Amino acid sequence: MASHKALVQAGDGPARFQQLTDADLPEGDVTIAVRYSTLNYKDGLAVLGRGKIVRRFPMVCGVDLAGTVESSRSSQWRTGDEVVVTGFGLSETHPGGYAERQRVPSQWLVRKPASLELDQTMAIGTAGLTAMLCVLALEKGGLTPDRDGAVLVTGAAGGVGSLAVAILAELGYRVTASTGRPETQEYLRELGATDFIDRSELAEDSGRPLDSRRWIAVVDTVGGTTLATAIKQTHYGCPVAACGHVGGSELPLSVMPFIIRGVQLLGIDAVQCPLPLRELAWQRLASDLPLAKLASTTSYRDLDEVPQLAERIVEGQIRGRLVIRVS
Ligand code: NDP
Repeated sequence: MASHKALVQAGDGPARFQQLTDADLPEGDVTIAVRYSTLNYKDGLAVLGRGKIVRRFPMVCGVDLAGTVESSRSSQWRTGDEVVVTGFGLSETHPGGYAERQRVPSQWLVRKPASLELDQTMAIGTAGLTAMLCVLALEKGGLTPDRDGAVLVTGAAGGVGSLAVAILAELGYRVTASTGRPETQEYLRELGATDFIDRSELAEDSGRPLDSRRWIAVVDTVGGTTLATAIKQTHYGCPVAACGHVGGSELPLSVMPFIIRGVQLLGIDAVQCPLPLRELAWQRLASDLPLAKLASTTSYRDLDEVPQLAERIVEGQIRGRLVIRVS
């Protein structure tokens, strides 16, 4: 029986490489030859065995994958189709993208947008999908480019943050990037950010229920006091998309921004996001994310390097997006 390489979390420390066989493939009606995956913050935690990401052991890590259909029992998918899978249970309850072959339910598949190459879909990955879901939510909350003012992106030099900056700037917004790494400013400027604030400025609690109004919208990847401060600084009636918790999962805040200023706090989930919204987000990514900017955020690495890279992303040392070459 042919074997394939996979990075497996056994539940006893960092994930390790193993050779798996067809008998190890999970339930599902589509088998995929995986070409690329990504490394997200969540992947870092799963590979290191932290953060309770993995719910069943042993588990192939990798929350994203892109590849070609090898075999299908679904009438919707044929051998050779280029497909993308992000989130759902990958790397949590269902084996994920750090394997040369994977099997998934056909309902999880998104067809690769025609204008993107397969590796570009992984340069986008869950991070890009999340960034676009934030933008769609902000638009639903009333954000339009003719509104005067700046949109704040926190954790701006990270995966979600970088792509949110690039998309918002492309759509015509003035983007303020909050980063803890001043050395990334030039890179963020190239993505379209025009103003910068240090992450420490938002991480400090003013102790007041409301602060001076600064933002017409916010994409927050940090959570904790940073999100609370951003909400307190948001203009009347404007939307805040909360998608991350790299800085903490608590929200030290009064209800005042909501009941005095009508600020809208919008929760973003890219993992269980329903297929129609997911497909809309991929269409918008294909049209609104400038590929030159995507390329400038992206580095390519091999599957063998993932264990070392996991440490670096969890320590907040990775800039932009990493595409992992799987096979
Ligand atoms: P990255 O590690 O790529 O980026 C996170 C960024 O946050 C870092 O680059 C850094 O940016 C900043 N940061 C790191 N540590 C801290 C800290 N202690 N305080 C403040 N800022 C910090 O992660 P991703 O972009 O992949 O993910 C970002 C967040 O979004 C994570 O919490 C992740 O779990 C979440 N997420 C949620 C999803 C959902 O469905 N809701 C889907 C995908 C991700 P800088 O150097 O610029 O300050």
